[in-house]
Amino acid sequence: MNAIACQVVSIEALTPVVHKVLLAPSAPVTFTAGQYLQICITTTDKRPFSIASTPDQSLLELHIGTPEGDAWSSAAMSHLQQQHALAAPVQVEVGLGKAQWLAGSDRPVILMAGGTGFSYVYSIAMAIAAAKQDKPVFLYWGVRSEDALYYQAELEQWATDHPMFHFIPVVQHPASSWTGRTGLVHEAVLSDFTSLAAYDIYLAGPFAMAGVARTAFLAQGAQREQLFADAFAYI
Ligand SMILES: Cc1cc2nc3c(=O)[nH]c(=O)nc-3n(C[C@H](O)[C@H](O)[C@H](O)COP(=O)(O)OP(=O)(O)OC[C@H]3O[C@@H](n4cnc5c(N)ncnc54)[C@H](O)[C@@H]3O)c2cc1C
Repeated sequence: MNAIACQVVSIEALTPVVHKVLLAPSAPVTFTAGQYLQICITTTDKRPFSIASTPDQSLLELHIGTPEGDAWSSAAMSHLQQQHALAAPVQVEVGLGKAQWLAGSDRPVILMAGGTGFSYVYSIAMAIAAAKQDKPVFLYWGVRSEDALYYQAELEQWATDHPMFHFIPVVQHPASSWTGRTGLVHEAVLSDFTSLAAYDIYLAGPFAMAGVARTAFLAQGAQREQLFADAFAYI
C-alpha cells in the first residue's frame, strides 16, 4: 500500500493519557468507517490506529492512548509531536483492516469498546447516524475509571436525541459517586442480551478483552460472521 503525506493539524489532550490527533491528508483518501491507518515512523516501523472520523470528513481523527509503560503507542505519539513541531508531514497508510462497518446489513448493532478502542466504534456509530439507518445501536464503552470517558457528554446527548441509539458506559474501578454500570465491559453485554444471534457486533480494545469477548459472545449465540474485530488478526 502507498503511504500518503499528512500534516499534523493538531494534538489535543482528551485525558492525561489520551490525545486526539487531527491529520490533513495531502490528497483525498479512501476508507470505510471502522478501518484503521498506520503511522509510518520509518518505512518498516508502522503502528496501527483506528480512524475515529468518517470518510466524508476532510480530516482524519485519531485517539491515541499512551499509558505509562506503553512504549508502543508512545513511539508513534512522539513521532507525531516531533513532526507537528517541525510543521513537517507524517507518512500514513489509510484504509486497512477487515472489521469495517457493513453498511448494507439490516441487523441491530452492538458496538463494544475497551478504552481507546472507542475510536473504532465512534466512527461506525457516526456512519450509521449519517446513513440515517433506523435500527437499534447499543454502544458499550468500558474504561478503568470514569475520567477516561472523554466523549461521554456527546454520547449522552446523542442518546437523548436518537431513541434508537443507546449509550452504556461501564466503569471497571468506579468512584463512590458513579451510579452507572460497573465491571468488565464484555460482561455488561453478556448480561444485557440473552442471545447475541441477531446482532452485528463490532469490538475494539485491548487484545485480552477481544479474546475473552470472542469466546464468551460465541458461546452466547453470536454468529462468527457477524462478529468483527481487527484484534482477532493479532491474537
Ligand atoms: C488495528 C489496531 C488498531 C488500534 N487502534 C488504536 C487506537 O486507535 N488508539 C490506541 O491508543 N491504540 C490502538 N491500538 C492499540 C491497542 O488496541 C490499544 O493499546 C488498546 O485498545 C488500549 O486499550 P486501553 O489501554 O485504552 O484499555 P484499558 O484501559 O486497558 O481497558 C479498558 C477496558 O477494557 C476491558 N478490558 C481490559 N483488559 C481486559 C481483560 N484482560 N479482560 C477483559 N476485559 C478487559 C475492561 O472493560 C477495561 O475497563 C490499536 C491496535 C490495533 C492492532
